[in-house]
Amino acid sequence: MTKFSDLGLSQPVLQALDLKGYDEPTPIQAQAIPPVLEGRDLLGIAQTGTGKTAAFMLPSIDRLRDADNQTPFKSCRMLVLAPTRELAGQIAQSAKDYGALAGLKVHSIVGGTSVNKDRNKLHRGTDILVATPGRLLDLIDQKAFRLDGVEILVLDEADQMLDLGFIHALRRISELVPDDRQTLFF
Ligand code: AMP
Repeated sequence: MTKFSDLGLSQPVLQALDLKGYDEPTPIQAQAIPPVLEGRDLLGIAQTGTGKTAAFMLPSIDRLRDADNQTPFKSCRMLVLAPTRELAGQIAQSAKDYGALAGLKVHSIVGGTSVNKDRNKLHRGTDILVATPGRLLDLIDQKAFRLDGVEILVLDEADQMLDLGFIHALRRISELVPDDRQTLFF
């Protein structure tokens, strides 16, 4: 049986998992974590509720820790795009839980809330940003946010984002992130 400690994750992340009470990785976690830690791009297919958030979040937290770059001004190091406010909120909460001991800043922005508040909270940048595509582009169009700091791009529920008509938004976003970023599709 695979254990989290066999997958190459750092001590702070293993400790956070211990606090969460997870005993062993789910299949998508066991398969996705090693290649993501190596910096490879990944297309992961798994149903909701199978632990896919941790499958991309845990190794990404370690990649961010290893690279040790500064939090970029008005930008982020990891961008996670999600189709709905609910999902974005859940992913941001997971990022906070798993990243608690790694000292990474996490923010989320979604439509239907105050844009001004989002502008203010992102002014100094963040390590991890979870966003719905429309709100992200609003901030970019207002010159309140840039994507040139992105090291890891995650598209979660990518199929649902396409069903919801986000294709043009996703194309624009993919043109604005650096070419050498790591890309994870779920
Ligand atoms: P997700 O598919 O990412 O939405 O995760 C579904 C649920 O499973 C969430 O409540 C997670 O906290 C939980 N979870 C994720 N990974 C594990 C694991 N390895 N062991 C136990 N629970 C987990």
